[in-house]
Formats: sequence, C-alpha cells, structure tokens
Amino acid sequence: MKLQDKVALITGGSRGIGKAVAMAYAREGAKVAICARTGSEVEQAAQEIGALRAECKGWTCDVSVEASVKEFVAAAGDEFGRIDILVNNAGVMTRPASITELDIKKWDYTIAVNLRGPFLVTQAVLPLMMKQRSGSIINVSSIIGRGAYANFIAYATSKWGLEGFTQTLAAEVRSYNIRANTVEPGVVATKLTGYSGSKPESVTEVFVYLAADEAKGITGKMLNSSGWRQEVGKNRG
Ligand code: NAP
Repeated sequence: MKLQDKVALITGGSRGIGKAVAMAYAREGAKVAICARTGSEVEQAAQEIGALRAECKGWTCDVSVEASVKEFVAAAGDEFGRIDILVNNAGVMTRPASITELDIKKWDYTIAVNLRGPFLVTQAVLPLMMKQRSGSIINVSSIIGRGAYANFIAYATSKWGLEGFTQTLAAEVRSYNIRANTVEPGVVATKLTGYSGSKPESVTEVFVYLAADEAKGITGKMLNSSGWRQEVGKNRG
C-alpha cells in the first residue's frame, strides 16, 4: 500500500482519467475526495470508489468559480483532516477551430477551467499543505501543452500555461517540502476524446508514483504516462 493513510483531493474525479486515478489511489490505501460539476456522476463515482473499501466522498464543485472551490476544499479538509495529494485533473476541450473562428466565449471557458481552476484549487489547498510541511501536487497537462498543434489554440494555451504554472509553483513551495509536477497522459479513451485511445486505468501508475513518498525529491518535472520511468531514472519494477 503505497498511499496508506494519505488523503488525496482529485478534481474531475467523476469519470475518465480522474476517476481512474481516484480508484488507483483508493487501492493503494488513500482516502479520496473528488469533485465535478455533475452531482449525479460524482455520487456514482464516490460509491464505486467506496466499494473498494476506501474512504471516499464526492462534492459538486466548479473549479473555475472561487466560492465553489473554497467551499469544496474547506469541506474536504474538515472531512479528512489533511490533504497530502492534489490532482488538478478537471479539464475541458472545445471543438477544434482556427484562431480566427474560435468563439471568444470558448477561449474564456477553456482558460477558466484548465488554468484558473488549478490556480484556485492550489491556492485553497496550499495553506493546509504548508502547515503540514508536505504535499504532492500533480497537474494534468497534455501533449498539446508541449508542442504546436493547429486549431487547439485555447486548449494548447491553457496547458502550456499549466506547465509554466507548475514549474513556478515547484520553485515557490520547495522549501515547504511540497512537490509539483505535470503528467502528460497520452491519448486516453474518455468523454473528452470521444472514447478513443488507451484505457484510463492504463495511465494511473505515474500518478501513484508521484503521490507516494517514493517520489521524494521529484519536483518541477513534466512526466509522460508511458515514458516516466526513464524520465525519473527508475528501472522497471
Ligand atoms: P473527461 O472524461 O471529460 O473528464 C473531465 C472531468 O473533469 C469530469 O469529471 C468533469 O465532470 C470534470 N470537469 C470539467 N469541467 C469542470 C469544472 N469546471 N469544474 C469541476 N470539474 C470539471 O476528460 P478526461 O480525458 O478524463 O480529462 C481529464 C484531464 O486530462 C483534463 O485536464 C484533460 O485536459 C486531460 N487530458 C486528457 C487527455 C485524453 O486523451 N483524454 C489527454 C491529455 C490530457 P463535469 O463535466 O461533471 O464537471
């Protein structure tokens, strides 16, 4: 059990990658707090995770709304008493469109969820982690946040921003023994991709690694869900 007695807060934990990570954490002994906007999906996921004999609770929260985030993080902190792991996973991607055709509302929406969201949630969680003088923050990025992909300007900008956010955060909280890294999960079969790609369960290993004490000293890294072992100099097994 790599995460025994640790408490993990996972945004967008109701389906897709977030739910798979929440289940993997539960199997490793963590207590799990999840959130998403759709209450019925959050409840269903929390029940499924709880069925793994793990403590799990779900909240309805929109990560782009300050008051909603504050309420969620305060409630999760009260429920579990601490937060050891934060996975900023909630994210959206609108239909591909050229920069000249992209609706400004879609730009604002994407940046609000994918960039403002992680900022708000991290800002709300940090006081607790700083008091504990420990924590691991994992931000879910994308290959589109590390290269040039035409017609994804808002999504790409949000994820490039998240990479910079993470590097800066890692430098800022290092002295509190808090780590911050990004994971690029590859193409995963979720609602966001129209269910094409690899199974969400197949990308969770790197999330467990980064959350566990084993990854002590790993911060400011941009890891890939398949190549991460080489990236951290860890041999297979
Ligand atoms: P998904 O199945 O659509 O799941 C997204 C999750 O985020 C859902 O739980 C969703 O629930 C939640 N969410 C969306 N907007 C939210 C908001 N404003 N506040 C709170 N929760 C919100 O997509 P996914 O593929 O698992 O995506 C998870 C993360 O991985 C995203 O950051 C995405 O950019 C990233 N990613 C995915 C892939 C891929 O191939 N799938 C590749 C690279 C990166 P509600 O809609 O109910 O809020």
